[in-house]
Amino acid sequence: MVRGWVLILAFRPGTVTAMTFVEPHRSCSRPMCSRDAESVLLFEYSDRHVVLGTLRPVANPNILELCSIHADRFSPPLGWSLDDQRAETAVHADVTA
Ligand SMILES: [Zn+2]
Repeated sequence: MVRGWVLILAFRPGTVTAMTFVEPHRSCSRPMCSRDAESVLLFEYSDRHVVLGTLRPVANPNILELCSIHADRFSPPLGWSLDDQRAETAVHADVTA
């Protein structure tokens, strides 16, 4: 899966010999949880609606990212609706792979 990337350059005297992209670790936003983030929570405040989707390629500090356990346990605030799009996206990803 493509996530956020960090560019690392390896130098030999006088020339660049290699460029490698390294995926940084993105962990769950829940306190005391160090599991890998796999899902995002998007809050649409005007409609009182929450979308639970798959992790985006680039991290956004304004979006909560959850591990699979916390994503499965998530329930929206009282009076809000939840749209869990993780399964839809996974099926779509399998078809296009
Ligand atoms: Zn977690």
